[in-house]
Amino acid sequence: MTIPSTQDPTSARPAALPLRPELAGEEPYGAPQLDVPVLLNVNENPYAPAEDVVATIAADVAEAARGLNRYPDRDFLPLRAALADYLARESGVRVAPEQVWAANGSNEVMLHLLQAFGGPGRTALSFAPTYSMYPEYARDTHTRWVTGRRAEDFTLDPEHAVATIEAEQPSVVLLASPNNPTGTALPAATVEAVLEAASRVRVPDAPDGAGAVVVVDEAYAEFRRTGTPSALELLDRYPHLAVTRTMSKAFAAAGLRLGYLAGARPLVDALRVVRLPYHLSAVTQAAAGAALKHTESLLAQVDALRAERDAAVAWLRAQRGPDGAPLVVAETDSNFALFGTFPDRHAVWQGLLDRGVLIREVGPDGWLRVSIGTPQEMERFRTALTEVIEELSS
Ligand SMILES: *Cc1c(COP(=O)(O)O)cnc(C)c1O
Repeated sequence: MTIPSTQDPTSARPAALPLRPELAGEEPYGAPQLDVPVLLNVNENPYAPAEDVVATIAADVAEAARGLNRYPDRDFLPLRAALADYLARESGVRVAPEQVWAANGSNEVMLHLLQAFGGPGRTALSFAPTYSMYPEYARDTHTRWVTGRRAEDFTLDPEHAVATIEAEQPSVVLLASPNNPTGTALPAATVEAVLEAASRVRVPDAPDGAGAVVVVDEAYAEFRRTGTPSALELLDRYPHLAVTRTMSKAFAAAGLRLGYLAGARPLVDALRVVRLPYHLSAVTQAAAGAALKHTESLLAQVDALRAERDAAVAWLRAQRGPDGAPLVVAETDSNFALFGTFPDRHAVWQGLLDRGVLIREVGPDGWLRVSIGTPQEMERFRTALTEVIEELSS
């Protein structure tokens, strides 16, 4: 008897998989991970953790390892309390540990939000251009996905936002502030207008007066310029607001996979229903808790990165593209800048890559996004871009 191998294309087994039709032809999300000297493509903090931080993480993970035969703490309140303490320090807004939720990256936190508040017959809304993962959470939860639009300068007109909410009646509104890939932060008045309109939405199958959940994705909040508010300040007035944060960007811990949110307790409790059992491993809980003991050290470079960003923006604005037109840079409150516009942005991206500098080909046609690196990395970026523009002009 021969056992057909799963690799055997001539096997009598059906060749096709019963893939959901909406997944046919879909590629896994992600920027190219290339091995080049200057990585300025996924908005990481370029500074690795200091040795004393590494030592604390190693010690606390070792302690967790001694209990790895057991499932981890499902509700991880000590970590949620540490995150609440951090938010109070960072923004002056104090929430209870039970008002904090965490998962493997804020991407998973937002998937939990769509699992709890989206679903068949419901709509999720955002305003383009914005983070390209949002439509994937909608797709994966069978939620209808719609976008309104941002203005030419990537700001969001509150009247347009309110009108779109009224027309589409979403159960979830996603607002990135600062926005990716544009860097744009939203004024508090715009977020409030959205929250007011969201509270008037009649969500299908929801109790009367439920309204839509508004997610303000503050992945880049720590990089915002002085005077730019955080939506955390609105939490006590809006029980259907969720503010998501992450340790992946300013916190210099993208490899950790720890994202979190703050919201009213009933909202957080709804997320506890949809999470997988023990979704946050004991190792992750220990490493995140250890990192939070070193908040100051991990965030030490944020001010330097903001200054480096402002310098990069000023430099870019003083350059001319291959067509002789001055470069344009979107206003940014994050650790990246969206700049352009190039008749052939791919040629610019490729020219930089040929010189060992990887940036991101993302956003509206003609634009490119560069993450802010160390002063040395930014010098290499400036030199390479000058050469590329020179080459493409001739
Ligand atoms: C990077 C990023 C995140 C964070 O993702 P993690 O899963 O926490 O690493 C969230 N939202 C936006 C807009 C981002 O750019």
